[in-house]
Formats: sequence, structure tokens, C-alpha cells
Amino acid sequence: MRKNIVAGNWKMNKTLDEGIALAGEIQKLLKNNPPEDSGVIIAPPFIHIAKIAGLLDGNIGIAAQNCASEPAGAYTGEVSAAMIRSAGAGYVIIGHSERRHYYGEDNPILKKKIEMVLENNLIPIYCCGEILEERNNKDHFNVVKNQLNDALFFLSPEEFTGVIVAYEPVWAIGTGVTATPEQAQEMHAYIRGLIADRYGSEIAGNTSILYGGSCKPDNAAELFANPDVDGGLIGGASLNAEDFTAIIRAF
Ligand code: PEP
Repeated sequence: MRKNIVAGNWKMNKTLDEGIALAGEIQKLLKNNPPEDSGVIIAPPFIHIAKIAGLLDGNIGIAAQNCASEPAGAYTGEVSAAMIRSAGAGYVIIGHSERRHYYGEDNPILKKKIEMVLENNLIPIYCCGEILEERNNKDHFNVVKNQLNDALFFLSPEEFTGVIVAYEPVWAIGTGVTATPEQAQEMHAYIRGLIADRYGSEIAGNTSILYGGSCKPDNAAELFANPDVDGGLIGGASLNAEDFTAIIRAF
């Protein structure tokens, strides 16, 4: 059976000391009252990963927010999947809309990044989602389908098993506008159907599909109650330990 997962994307927030404090607070809040039903992942900035990995007790997974599309070499400023692995992370967020839109990461680049992630025994959290104009033009299903086809569905069934997908409508990210539970369920069911067409219903049924976009303690429960919504990728609310752990308890 698939797992419920809540992952916190810290983006470019928190100094190292602040990040260590936040990770410690999250760990403490979860230890006092362990969640019954969900896996927890945090995605701090690269430079925090090794330090935070050394402090956590193993019940909280660590993700990088990005990785290089090349394995190693003269790529100033880049961080490879092998480095991420060696620092203690187990996951990498790939294809976040901020990477797509601010850094020009298109599906061919993201495909290479997915290859790097898999080669280094890391688990990708692959983000997909449409901008508002695409939804208004009723093109949102096609956009998501292409994002999956072009950068993810080249994986073999064995490689795909364990991959986490995050549906993040771009118009909902950091805007305070959340997809309605119906909109989320509709797209998640569509994504699961695409996975079933490509990999079969067993793999589709075991794939965790997370929702992201202004998910907060007060709306998480109604989103997570949907049969195809297996948790959340949380931005802003993951920067506060109380809010983040309240979302984890929303199942
Ligand atoms: C995100 O950036 O992945 C995200 C979902 O952000 P927020 O929760 O702040 O909308």
C-alpha cells in the first residue's frame, strides 16, 4: 500500500543555526506525539543537509531541493546527486515550479536530473503542475501529462517504483489560494490514471501523489481526505514547526 507523506520545502530560508533549530523543534514535536500514519521529509538548503542529517534520529527523511544534471566536473555552483547522497539525504525534489520558471529548467533537463537521482540511489519527488493561464484555457491536464511523459515516464517499472509525485498547481504556490479538494482529487486521479496506463495499476496504486500549493493546518485535512491525495509538499507552512507538525497530523 502507498504511504502518506508530508514533505517540507524550506526553499531559500533559514540560516544554518535557524535550520538546525527548526529541524530540532520538528523532531521534538513529533517525538512527543508520533504521527501514526505518515512519513515526514524536510528539504533544507544544501549547506544544511550534512549537519541536520547528523542530528535527526532517522524518523525524518531529508531531501535536497534540486541537483545538478551532470554527474561531476567543471560546473561552478552546482551540487551533484552523489554529493547530496554523501551528505545524508535520501530524496531530491526535481522540477519545482520555481526551478522551471526562474531557472529555465525544462523537461529534457529534468529528465537528466531524474537519471542522476536514480543512479545515486536517491528518491525523486517529481513536481508537476500548470500555471493559471493553462488552467483557464482548460489545458491543465495536457500540461501535466507532458511533464510526466517527458521527464519521468522514461523510467522502467523497477526504477519508477518508489518515485514520489507532487502535483503543485503554480497558481496556488505561495499565493494563499489553494486548489479546492475537488480540483486536487480530480488531478490526482488523472495522474494516477496516467501512471496506471504506463506502469500498470499495481504500481499506480502504490505511488504516493502529494498535493502542494498553500497547504496549511486549516485546509490540510480536507485535502488529505481525498482518496488520491497521499499527503503534501509544503512550502511556507513548513518553516514553522507547529504548523508543519499540525499538517502532518491532518490525516
Ligand atoms: C511549494 O513551494 O512547494 C509550496 C507548496 O509552497 P507553499 O506551500 O508556500 O504554497
